[in-house]
Amino acid sequence: MAILEVEKIRKDFGSLEVLRDVSFSLEKGETLSMIGASGSGKTTLLRCLNFLERPTAGVIRVGGEVIFDAADPATTGESEIRRRRMHFGMVFQSFNLFPQYTALQNVTLARELKEKEQPGYKEHKKEILHQIREEGEAVLDSVGLKEKVDYYPHQLSGGQQQRVAIARALMMKPDILCFDEPTSALDPELTGEVLKVIRKLAGQRTTMVIVTHEMQFAREVSDKILFLDSGLVTEYGTPEDVFERPTQERTRQFLERYFEDKR
Ligand code: ADP
Ligand code: MG
Repeated sequence: MAILEVEKIRKDFGSLEVLRDVSFSLEKGETLSMIGASGSGKTTLLRCLNFLERPTAGVIRVGGEVIFDAADPATTGESEIRRRRMHFGMVFQSFNLFPQYTALQNVTLARELKEKEQPGYKEHKKEILHQIREEGEAVLDSVGLKEKVDYYPHQLSGGQQQRVAIARALMMKPDILCFDEPTSALDPELTGEVLKVIRKLAGQRTTMVIVTHEMQFAREVSDKILFLDSGLVTEYGTPEDVFERPTQERTRQFLERYFEDKR
C-alpha cells in the first residue's frame, strides 16, 4: 500500500499558479527524486507536504488516511497542523540549526518537547531524557558524527551541519523524509559526504522525497523521478524512463544542458 498519496495539489500565491494538479504516490521504502528548473515549484511542493504552506486544492493521504483535503474543513484547521506535520521530516538547503545548541541538543530538542507533553513525563523525566540522549547519540553516530556530539554548529563544516540536520529529522521517525536541495549550499568537496548519508538511508529503505540538482545521484538512488515544469508534472516514472526516454522535448533539453555543463 502507498505510504504517501498526493492528489491534484494546487498552490496559488495570489494570481500566480505555482503548482497545478500535482499528483504522485510513494510506496513505503521508496525514494522519489524531484527535479526541474529553478522556479518550477519544487520547494513549494515540499513546503506543502510539510504544511509550511497550505495547498489551495488537493488531497494528501498518509498510509491511506486523508491527512489533508482542501475541500474538507475538518482536515485543514490550524490545530491539526502539528499532528499532520509529524508524518514528515524536512532537511533544508541551509541546515537551519540552532547556533546556541550543540549537535546533540539540536537533534534531541524536538523529541524532548514532544515527550514533555506525554502523561507520566514528570515522574520518569530522568530516564526519559537519558533514553532520548542515547538515541540522539546513536543517530548522530549513524551519520558519522559520533565524535562531534558536543560541538556547536559554528565548530562544524557545512557538510557536518547538514548531517546534524539529517540526524535531527531522523530522530522524529517521520513516515516520509523530505530534502530540499540538501547539498546546494555546500562546497563540492563536502557534497559527497552528505550524498553518502542519503544513499545509505535509501539502502535502508527510508521513504524519501528528495529535491536535487544532482542528476547522477538521483538516477542511482531513486525508485521514481518526478520532473516539474512550471508547476506541472511533465515526467513521472523510473529513472530509466525519465533519463533515457523523456516524453517531453523540454525535459530532454533540460537534461542535455545539465549533462553538458557537467562535462
Ligand atoms: P523551485 O524550488 O523549483 O525553485 P519555488 O517553489 O521556490 O521553486 O518557487 C516557485 C514559484 O513560486 C516562483 O515563481 C516563486 O517566485 C513563487 N513563490 C514561492 N513562494 C512564494 C511566496 N511565498 N509568495 C509568492 N510567490 C512565491
Ligand atoms: Mg527551491
